[in-house]
Amino acid sequence: MSGREQIYVQEAFDTNWIAPLGPNVEGFESALVDYLKEDSHVAALSSGTGALHLALILLGVGSGDEVICQSFTFAASANPIVYLGARPIFVDSEKDTWNISPEMLEKAIKDRIARGKKPKAIIAVHLYGMPYKVEAIREISLRYEIPVLEDSAESLGSSYHGVKCGTFGDISILSFNGNKIITTSGGGALRTRDNTIKERAVFLATQSRDEAPHYQHSAIGYNYRMSNVLAGIGRGQMEVLDDRVNARRNNYLYYKENLGSLESIEFLEEPEGYFSNRWLTCILTPSEEIREKIRLSLQEENIESRPLWKPMHLQPVFSKCESYLNGISEELFSRGLCLPSGSDLSLSNLERISHTIKQIVA
Ligand SMILES: *Cc1c(COP(=O)(O)O)cnc(C)c1O
Repeated sequence: MSGREQIYVQEAFDTNWIAPLGPNVEGFESALVDYLKEDSHVAALSSGTGALHLALILLGVGSGDEVICQSFTFAASANPIVYLGARPIFVDSEKDTWNISPEMLEKAIKDRIARGKKPKAIIAVHLYGMPYKVEAIREISLRYEIPVLEDSAESLGSSYHGVKCGTFGDISILSFNGNKIITTSGGGALRTRDNTIKERAVFLATQSRDEAPHYQHSAIGYNYRMSNVLAGIGRGQMEVLDDRVNARRNNYLYYKENLGSLESIEFLEEPEGYFSNRWLTCILTPSEEIREKIRLSLQEENIESRPLWKPMHLQPVFSKCESYLNGISEELFSRGLCLPSGSDLSLSNLERISHTIKQIVA
C-alpha cells in the first residue's frame, strides 16, 4: 500500500457508500480509462476471473462451443470456459515471449475448422507481464474472424510499441488480486472500446436487472460488481502504479546484472518494442534437477521461489481437453523458476537472494 488508499476508503465510510457502487467505483474506472487510453471503456468487477466469465458471455460463448486458450497460464484463464459448458482447446507457447505461438494458433484454428467447428474466441495472455505477439495474433484473429479475449491480469503497466497492454483484445481483462502489480485485495476489470459492451457487462454483473420498478429479469445475472470500499484502494493504488512498475523492473535489472553472466541462468529479454512490467522475474536453468537444487537451497535460506505456471494441458482437471503442442511450455515448466519479485524487496534482500543462487550454481 502507498498510504493514499485510506483517504479514498475513508471517503467511502464518511459518505456511507458501502456498496458495490459509488464514487470510488466511478473514480477507479476513470483512472483506468485515463491510464489505458485508446478509447477505453472500463467496468470495475469483483475479480479477474469474473471479468473473464463475463467477457466470454459477451463474446457469445455458450454450451458446446470451443474456445482456444494459451496453455501456459494460470488456471483462471481457462476455468470460465468450463463454467459456460464450453470446451477449452489449449495452444502452446513460443520462445520469444513465452506466450501463445501464432504458428500453433493458426494450426489449431485450421484443424478445428476442418473438424467442423470454428472456435468462438482466442484467449491470449501476457504472462508475467511480457506482452504476447500482439500483431501476429491480431492478424490471425482478423483473418479467421475469431475475437481475441486479452488476459492482461499480470500485465497492467506493460506496453507494446507504446500502447498499453489491456487494450489489445476485442475484450480485455485486468486483475487486482492481492498478488498482482497493484491490488484492491480482490478485484478485476473488463475493458472494451465499445460503451454498449461495457454497459452490458455492468448489467450482467449487477444481477441483470431490467428497467422496472419491481425486480424483473430477462437474462441470467451475476454478482460481479466491485465494492466501493475496495475501489477506494484501487484509486490510491493507481497513483503509484508507475512506481510499482519501476520497482519490479529494477528487481529484474538487479538479478540480470548479478546473475546474467552465469552460463546456467537465462533471462527472458524484451523483444524490440516490447515493454514488460516485470511482474515476476523468472529464470531458466539447464534442467529440472538444477532448478530444484536452486529452489530447495533458497528454501533452506527461508527464501521463497516457485516453478513457472504448470501448463493447462498438463493439469489433471483438463486432461481430457485437446491441445496443440510444440514442447515449449513443458520445457519452461520443467526448467523455469520465479524469483522473489515484490515491489518492496530491499537491496539487501536482492543481494542475499543473488548470493545464494551464485553459491549453488558455482
Ligand atoms: C490472477 C490471474 C487471473 C485471475 O484474476 P483474479 O482477479 O485472481 O480472479 C487470470 N489470469 C491470469 C493470467 C492471472 O494471473
